[in-house]
Amino acid sequence: MRMEASRYIAAMSEVWGTLLAEHVDDGSGHCRVCRPSRWPCTLHAIAGEARLMALPGGGSDPGEPSGGAVR
Ligand SMILES: [Zn+2]
Repeated sequence: MRMEASRYIAAMSEVWGTLLAEHVDDGSGHCRVCRPSRWPCTLHAIAGEARLMALPGGGSDPGEPSGGAVR
C-alpha cells in the first residue's frame, strides 16, 4: 500500500518535493508537520521512496535535514 502510494506520486515531483521539504525533523525527533509523530514520519518515508523511483541512483536531498542538529 505504501509502495503504491510512492509509485503514484513518483511522477509528481512537486508532490514528493513538497512533502520532503515540509515533513522534516523539528529538532526533537518529531515531524514538524504531523507531530507528535516520530520523524521520519510515514509521509516522509513515502515521499522518499517516490524520490528514489523518480530519481534512481539518488541525487540531491533537498528535504533532508543537514544533520547533526538533533540533541
Ligand atoms: Zn510528517
